[in-house]
Amino acid sequence: MPTIPIPADPARHAGGCMQPVLLRGRVDHIDGATGELLHRYTTVHEPGGVLPVACKTRRASRCPPCAEVYRADTYQLIRAGLSGGKGVPATVAQHPCVFATLTAPSFGPVHSRREKDGRILRCRPRRRSRDCPHGNTLSCRQRHSRDDPLLGEPLCPDCYDYTGSVLFNTSAPELWRRFTITLRRALARQAGMSGTALAAQLRVSYAKVAEYQRRGVVHFHAIIRLDGPAGPATAPPAWATLDMLTGAIVQAASTVHLETPAAPGLPARTLYWGREHDIRPVTATGDLTDAKVAAYVAKYATKAAECTGTLDRRITPADRLADLPIREHARRLIAACLRLGRLPALSGLRLTAWAHMLGFRGHFSTKSRSYSTTLSALRADRAQHQRDSSLAASLWPVSDSETTLVIAHWQFAGQGPPPALLSAAAIRLTGPSSSSPPKEASHAPASADCP
Ligand SMILES: [Zn+2]
Ligand SMILES: [Zn+2]
Ligand SMILES: [Zn+2]
Repeated sequence: MPTIPIPADPARHAGGCMQPVLLRGRVDHIDGATGELLHRYTTVHEPGGVLPVACKTRRASRCPPCAEVYRADTYQLIRAGLSGGKGVPATVAQHPCVFATLTAPSFGPVHSRREKDGRILRCRPRRRSRDCPHGNTLSCRQRHSRDDPLLGEPLCPDCYDYTGSVLFNTSAPELWRRFTITLRRALARQAGMSGTALAAQLRVSYAKVAEYQRRGVVHFHAIIRLDGPAGPATAPPAWATLDMLTGAIVQAASTVHLETPAAPGLPARTLYWGREHDIRPVTATGDLTDAKVAAYVAKYATKAAECTGTLDRRITPADRLADLPIREHARRLIAACLRLGRLPALSGLRLTAWAHMLGFRGHFSTKSRSYSTTLSALRADRAQHQRDSSLAASLWPVSDSETTLVIAHWQFAGQGPPPALLSAAAIRLTGPSSSSPPKEASHAPASADCP
């Protein structure tokens, strides 16, 4: 049996992760013909006897270095779908493509910050505003600063439709699914052909990201692109224009709806998208460039519901809602989830399990199959480049035998830096180079914060 190479710095293989998964175990390479043990890697010789592996979370609130990797990867694959690269031809940039925002409807007036021509407008000036039944004025003449804690707070929490808000969050992924179906139908109608005939000439590709507004409702930003029948490598027909795409999006977004289940004391509701649809073309030189859009989507792909002031973890039966260190508005939204979650008719919505996400249980970033490359393909690519590292070499030594069996035995040994690396990790995490992004994404411009 050969000697076992010991990685010089196993923590490096967790990529600066702040909460690596710790594995204990071994990998055996066995000659399939003779049964001889050719090589063994074991974690016994690692510091603390464990191998740290990056947590690979997308969430910046949990592990900034891993989220940075996720952000940079997302940036690359979103940008590839806009201007080519990573296996997508550059001609994709000529396809009709828009960046659309589908918002949630109003669930009651909230404090907000709006700008017009560089000026901050008053929040909600209503000269003849009547007080609500709870004695609150539903008018606000303030010009809120960007970090005003009032932003997203209802003008009257007792009037605010908390039930509607969490029902919208839980229904948003289904509403999006119906939107994509209706969008194809709207395009077929505009082109005067059947759905099948349309699919033979045109494909709709998209990538979308969910974003929480401060009021605790999700909305979706989506890149929607028209391709030829075989995806980004084929041109869409000449009649498929930007105007046609925009018109079909407006039509689909304003007609799509869904009915929530009725329960005792809770009538069924019909949910729609909000009336404001923001649809802007993505171009190489205009106001909204591919780099800007990719940066925007990538940034939101690493966020969850943080800006709403909710909890970053599931709520357990041991939690006392009143004691949780969260914003009052978030507390009421969570309470609405827990209340509705107890109704058997609504059990399918899993509102109790997703109360900390204010009802939303969808994926934060999704894309259609033909948008561009996939995150796993990007990561496999990088893993291939890393194969020459000392650790990888000991896990997967080059073997010329086609009959070598690789048998891994892994055990979960916890999460967090192994005891022997704690001091070293502390130095690394405070250092400036802990999260330097990959070169290609380093010039990605930063984008705006939560609205
Ligand atoms: Zn991590
Ligand atoms: Zn206000
Ligand atoms: Zn009120």
